[in-house]
Amino acid sequence: MTAKAPEETAPKKRLAIFGSTGSIGTQALDVVRAHHELFAVEVLTAQNNDALLVEQALEFNPNMVVIGDEGRYANVKAGLAKTNIKVFAGEKALEEVAAIDCYDVMLAAIVGYAGLKPTLNAISIGKAIALANKETLVVAGDIVMQMAREKRVPIIPVDSEHSAIFQCLVGETRNPIEKVVLTASGGPFRGRKPNFLVNVKRDHALQHPNWNMGAKITIDSATLMNKGLEMIEAKWLFSLKPEQIEVVIHPQSIIHSMVQFEDGSMKAQMGLPDMKLPIQYALGFPKRLPNSFPRFDFKKNEQLTFEEPDLRTFRNLALAIQALNKGGNLPCIMNAANEIAVWAFLKNRIGFLDMMAVVEQAMQAVTFIEKPTLNDYYDTDAQSREFAAALVKL
Ligand code: NAD
Ligand code: MG
Repeated sequence: MTAKAPEETAPKKRLAIFGSTGSIGTQALDVVRAHHELFAVEVLTAQNNDALLVEQALEFNPNMVVIGDEGRYANVKAGLAKTNIKVFAGEKALEEVAAIDCYDVMLAAIVGYAGLKPTLNAISIGKAIALANKETLVVAGDIVMQMAREKRVPIIPVDSEHSAIFQCLVGETRNPIEKVVLTASGGPFRGRKPNFLVNVKRDHALQHPNWNMGAKITIDSATLMNKGLEMIEAKWLFSLKPEQIEVVIHPQSIIHSMVQFEDGSMKAQMGLPDMKLPIQYALGFPKRLPNSFPRFDFKKNEQLTFEEPDLRTFRNLALAIQALNKGGNLPCIMNAANEIAVWAFLKNRIGFLDMMAVVEQAMQAVTFIEKPTLNDYYDTDAQSREFAAALVKL
């Protein structure tokens, strides 16, 4: 008899997918589907989409599911009546389920500030985090990373740029980073000026040239706020100083980011833009899993080009750099105002350029705290939301 290969005998990694009905969540389930011998799904959560949550639960048979919107509890309960799957509802349940010791890795794929508390709870019980939710680190990166260090919890990035940097750093533990270069596609309005942007409507802004993502991050990509959030995310993930983080526009989205070491040598991670790749890398880490995704072909992509970002037009990126430099609760203020501004833009209540004005005004108005506690961050988020909501006349 021959011995089984280790992966055949190894227990499955048990996943808790927070935000399973979103763009990242559904792609993560595609990865699980393709590697069901490696992964088991223990927790699935969604905010509103009860029908998809039920469908996913029937397919993946988790231990429990949470629907954020309590008004949809009955639908989920009815849909899963013939199963043993436990059903919970509401924001508190989301936080509590994150703290139940029934999984190995949390995929943090909720969008926005709402992802912070479940992720903190997962870290507090020592669970590894595959982190898509960048807002968690933008809001409270110091506290999240400190808790992760104390609990010896790995935070493995899912965001493609940070996954790229993470991959470039494998085998480089003793080699300090000189700088990282985050690539940005530039979004649908690359090269445009304010006289064009002033008239941009939501449907146009939702058409990203290279990536198919959730609505909020798609708008953030169009305003370049996404890259600003990612600079702050990179600072915390890789313990960088603000001046070590650069952004370059790379419209083809083939180089996902780069690391420069102290000898001047640069490493880049490349591939076709497909979020399944960084999701799969984070879930499979440290192992690279085989797949049949389309491969990059140099013959079909003869030019990879690079440009400076236009910080005067895309002021959100300049504001984020200011928040990155000043630190304290300024990134938290910025993030909350941005969530409100994006929401208002998606509802056609404010224009494209108004989003940047809302963020800027909130950053000036909400009280700055240099060394915030976790409660300070919660209060700051509430204050900044309230301020921004008044501006967009919610
Ligand atoms: P999405 O809008 O497609 O999905 C969000 C998920 O979170 C859904 O399952 C939704 O039900 C849930 N959700 C929304 N609001 C919630 C709330 N208040 N409470 C609890 N759950 C809530 O978003 P997405 O594009 O999948 O992005 C998820 C996160 O991943 C974001 O932080 C985003 O920045 C990050 N990210 C996404 C991509 C991408 O390609 N989509 C790439 C990099 C990083
Ligand atoms: Mg990204």
